Amino acid sequence: MSRIAYVNGAYVPHAVAGVHVEDRGYQFGDGVYEVCEVRGGHMVDERRHMERLLRSLGELRIRLPMSLAALGVVLRQTIARNRVRDGLVYLQVTRGVARRDHYFPDPATPPSLVVTARAIDPAKGEAAAEQGIGVITVPDNRWERVDIKTVGLLPNVLAKEAAKQAGAREAWFVDAGGHVTEGGSTNAWIVTPEGRLVTRPAESGILRGITRTVMFEVAAELQLRIEERPFTVAEALGAREAFVTSATNFATPVVRIDGQAIGDGRPGPVARALRANYHRLAEIAR
Ligand code: PLP
Repeated sequence: MSRIAYVNGAYVPHAVAGVHVEDRGYQFGDGVYEVCEVRGGHMVDERRHMERLLRSLGELRIRLPMSLAALGVVLRQTIARNRVRDGLVYLQVTRGVARRDHYFPDPATPPSLVVTARAIDPAKGEAAAEQGIGVITVPDNRWERVDIKTVGLLPNVLAKEAAKQAGAREAWFVDAGGHVTEGGSTNAWIVTPEGRLVTRPAESGILRGITRTVMFEVAAELQLRIEERPFTVAEALGAREAFVTSATNFATPVVRIDGQAIGDGRPGPVARALRANYHRLAEIAR
């Protein structure tokens, strides 16, 4: 079956889907995106992802090119047309197409909207979670507005590629004070020797992950205590467990940081329990 993409009002074959060369997303990274998990053909946590999309757009003063209701239809259509049961749906909104000039274009310029969807074999994520993943640490060289989910991801791309070259799956950014901020495409967590969950406050240096937010509810249900505070690489190396969260990783155990084993070097019970209970508490609109 051939894939279909939604591009500015039309559903087109994915192989030939494209935007104009002067799209500001292409020229300047002047746009935002969201990734929602698709499970059993339905979007997971659509409401929260749409709320964050509106926030990102607002911070950059980009308009949503259609109503949220219409966008919901496009997302569902794209999922259905690609027959995705388990996978993800990706959406990107940019400031639109205009002659290349750093200043914002005429306010009447329509923003661009692209939506794609693809299947992911759930067995692959499960296998990664069973084994646990390795992360490397890298200096956080990103701009301060990482709370906005922009398509400008070059530092994340370079960090994740460096992780891959080192035989790891994810890179954890570390701020000037030696504290972990977050992963290249995930939020970072540890479990202290006393069994407390620690993750950085969302107010500075990280994207407020939707999965992170839901995990607060999962942790409360499991009667696990969360300390929202920065943690250092040294504290992570001495942690009982570490893990990452994101829409496509749920909670995935981290078993090595910079080549050093965390805990006994195997996925721990806390990360496993959070992963096992996540979809019960996530919102899945059927
Ligand atoms: N942090 C960064 C930098 C990300 O790119 C992502 C997801 O793409 C996350 C955190 C996790 O966010 P979410 O749980 O909403 O997928």
